Amino acid sequence: AAALELAAVTKAYGETVAVDAVSLKIPAGTYCCLLGPSGCGKSSTLRMIAGHEFISAGDVMIGDTVVNDLPPAKRGTAMMFQNYALFPHLSVRDNVAFSLKMAGIGKAERLRRADELLDLVDMAKYGERLPSQLSGGQQQRVALARALVTNPTVLLLDEPLSALDPFLRIRMRAELKRYQREFGISFIHVTHSQEEAMALADMVVVMNDGRIEQVGSPREVFNAP
Ligand code: ADP
Ligand code: ADP
Repeated sequence: AAALELAAVTKAYGETVAVDAVSLKIPAGTYCCLLGPSGCGKSSTLRMIAGHEFISAGDVMIGDTVVNDLPPAKRGTAMMFQNYALFPHLSVRDNVAFSLKMAGIGKAERLRRADELLDLVDMAKYGERLPSQLSGGQQQRVALARALVTNPTVLLLDEPLSALDPFLRIRMRAELKRYQREFGISFIHVTHSQEEAMALADMVVVMNDGRIEQVGSPREVFNAP
């Protein structure tokens, strides 16, 4: 079964057609990397899936549900950005619990879940800190906990590793693959790096000028041996 299906999904900003009738099926538990030149529509596609952007035409389906009109918190998706985007005035624990608040979950349960996820990403000791009191890599782990806390079926990552040093980047890749295996999450991971896609992806999608140009395994798409 497809975890995520896009059916002729289109985004127009005024005269600019950023995403042009894109159709795509991503099977459950698949790690998909999305590549393409700057401005080709990758972020717009992610934001439409997450519900941060209206869809101009077409349907986004998660499982069997058309989610076009559902708010972000009700879609079964979570999104993680390059700059982590943690709330600076909230503690690490409250950052992680925040999306559960949006989903209407009570405080005691929120904090219990947040601690569970902080434990999962090895950040249990840092719950009371503010984001500014953490290293970049630690902030990234908190952002990952915040994304995972709602049990998403689809995790959307917009160049999440590009700001990390090479050592942390390799470590985070292994973590992401672990979540794929352990929780059966499907990923759509925007990256500029062919090397990163080779390391992570089961499926590579290449966009150009608002359309999908190529879909296949990393080997097929990159002509690797
Ligand atoms: P990518 O993530 O591949 O760099 P984007 O989805 O950010 O591409 O952008 C695709 C196209 O849509 C670009 O031409 C960009 O300038 C345009 N675009 C993106 N966001 C907006 C916006 N909020 N308003 C107007 N145009 C936008
Ligand atoms: P972000 O925090 O990533 O900028 P938001 O969730 O604040 O995204 O939403 C960005 C824009 O998308 C806002 O104009 C908001 O009104 C709109 N929006 C929010 N939820 C939905 C939704 N379910 N469908 C369509 N648009 C939405």
